[in-house]
Amino acid sequence: MKCTHSFCLLILILGMAACDPPGNRKETPESQPEAFEYALVLHGGAGSMNFENFPEPSQQKYLHALDSALQLGLDLLKSGGESLDAVEVVIRCMEDNPLFNAGKGAVFNSEGRNELDASIMTGRDLNAGAVAGVNDIRNPISAARAVMEKSPHVLFSGHGASKFAEEAGLEMVDPSYFYTDDRYKSYLRAQEDEKHGTVGCVALDRYGNLCAGTSTGGITNKKYGRIGDSPIIGAGTYANNRTCGVSATGHGEFFIRWTVAHDISALMEYRGMDVEEAAKLVVEEKLIEAGGEGGVICLDRYGRAAMVTNTTGMFRAYGNAAGDRTVAIFK
Ligand code: ASP
Repeated sequence: MKCTHSFCLLILILGMAACDPPGNRKETPESQPEAFEYALVLHGGAGSMNFENFPEPSQQKYLHALDSALQLGLDLLKSGGESLDAVEVVIRCMEDNPLFNAGKGAVFNSEGRNELDASIMTGRDLNAGAVAGVNDIRNPISAARAVMEKSPHVLFSGHGASKFAEEAGLEMVDPSYFYTDDRYKSYLRAQEDEKHGTVGCVALDRYGNLCAGTSTGGITNKKYGRIGDSPIIGAGTYANNRTCGVSATGHGEFFIRWTVAHDISALMEYRGMDVEEAAKLVVEEKLIEAGGEGGVICLDRYGRAAMVTNTTGMFRAYGNAAGDRTVAIFK
């Protein structure tokens, strides 16, 4: 039989549609959910936390810290602020809080020093900035933003990052600023279960722009010079207005090798998954199979959140313009 061009094309299209695996759904105008005017999700790290072993007063302190950081971001978005500012403000607040493993209160490396990593990305233009292995910039997330906005580069490390941050007018501190007794004690004990506390935030503003950021001291007792996933775009942080924003926390080496943050976005973009399905597939299937512990917070372009971890707990909070609000620790 003679096959005309258009006839062959039709058969090909019908064939492709029939072979579409279940995840390959295309969004139609009718299936589009209503978007929240603005929304924000944040995390303060994931790990093995049990309700029984976590003293109640301590839980309350974390819940309060998460709630205040959330409120700060929501207020900014409500008054018309941009997602980039909201993410920076929320992460700075958590960096300044010694409860979290970011900024003051960061964990110690194997030499008893703090080395901090951070990154930020805007979903409108896929612009990004990051710093790694820094020890004298008070707020690494602001240094990441400066790299994004004031340099043609994406990632600065160590001494160069500090020099750049100082020239950009950021507040510099003596490395002893990051010290806290609690973190130093856990370094001395090198307790695996005390390494959680990385912070991250994803925001959607009234203009439809997503932004994601992450900041960390890394993993307790890590080898000097070790850089985790948090400053790696596509691993610990990713944002794309077409899909979602993601900030990760957990065993960084796995998040780098499995390009976790970008993988979630790619599953949404190429397989039409919603944000919850994509996050669950990566964190609860792929990462578990690989042996990588941790979790992610994500926000899609409609302001819907996914907060997924394969550990027993993740400090997290979510809020949106409609007044929905969640603040939680355990799974
Ligand atoms: N992902 C961070 C790192 O590997 C640590 C964490 O999130 O707990 O550096």
